[in-house]
Amino acid sequence: MTTAHERQQKILDSLSENEACTIHGLAELLSVSAMTIHRDLDKLEKEGVVVKVHGGAILRPDTEKNAESASSCPMCKQSIRSQLAFVLQLENGEQKQACCPHCGLMMSKMQNPALMLATDFLRGNKVNALQATYLIKPDLKTCCSPAVIAFASSEDAQRFQQGFGGEIMVFSEAKSFLSSTHAPPENM
Ligand SMILES: [Zn+2]
Ligand SMILES: [Zn+2]
Repeated sequence: MTTAHERQQKILDSLSENEACTIHGLAELLSVSAMTIHRDLDKLEKEGVVVKVHGGAILRPDTEKNAESASSCPMCKQSIRSQLAFVLQLENGEQKQACCPHCGLMMSKMQNPALMLATDFLRGNKVNALQATYLIKPDLKTCCSPAVIAFASSEDAQRFQQGFGGEIMVFSEAKSFLSSTHAPPENM
């Protein structure tokens, strides 16, 4: 028997993992009735943490756990999720943050940063972007298309690739791949 508070915490956990959950799915997950989930979501919505959508709920975008400030990506203007963030430290000390390796790699072409950090998609820690392994176009929706996610270890990237597909690349390959998808040949 879980308390309402524990249940609501679990709802938030599963929303932050999956972005969106159905009432049916949550009821099954927590072995309670859909009515109970409805009530929990009503309460969470009043608190301003979730938004109810037809048949389910999503986390309110700006209250997402660990959101690193309310900043948005300089490339695509989408909000930055900590799991994907890509940091560029410029020569003049300025720091810029892109929403994901996709935009980060595109920015690195223009900014010539002194240091770049990618976020390990599985573990959430920052890794030197030059040494990270990238998975391009996995079967996964991220902020930008084609999706690009980063891993500290190539083993993790390979394991992830087995489940989600996509192509494994090192920094330079990922960067030139993105340049080729963004710049039509006639502009070269
Ligand atoms: Zn972006
Ligand atoms: Zn992005």
